[in-house]
Amino acid sequence: MGMSDLDELYRGVILDHYRNPRRKGKIAGDHIHAEGNNPSCGDEFYLDIVIEDGVVTDAAMQGQGCSISQASGSMMMEAIVGKDVSEIQDLAHKFRLMMTIEEGDNPVDESRPGAVLGDLEALQGVRKFPVRIKCADLAWTTLADALEQAAATAS
Ligand code: ZN
Repeated sequence: MGMSDLDELYRGVILDHYRNPRRKGKIAGDHIHAEGNNPSCGDEFYLDIVIEDGVVTDAAMQGQGCSISQASGSMMMEAIVGKDVSEIQDLAHKFRLMMTIEEGDNPVDESRPGAVLGDLEALQGVRKFPVRIKCADLAWTTLADALEQAAATAS
């Protein structure tokens, strides 16, 4: 698969999540709420999650902003539900390595799209545009806030 084919594939995945965000809405029952914004682009992201026995059992998102910020949020929603908090922290770390936000060996094998992070790997092209990295990370910083709230409530 050539690089332009990959770019095309990734663009399609990003647009699909942007146009059809997964788990868009609010949670009616008990949940943790977190809000994030990225002033440099005008992106906003709102997150409701339910954590039971250390596992994220439900999640819902709302937001507005650029396609990168909202697609990243939608991809994150798919990636976190059903996982326990330590798995999610590991996923967040791998995502930030891919996006060059954190240092370390990059876990992504560019010859095998989706091999490690699923749809999230479609965002790897964004790291070529440092201004947009914050757009991609907005959902994840909002999630980190929610997980901190959960940890504070549990102790
Ligand atoms: Zn943005």
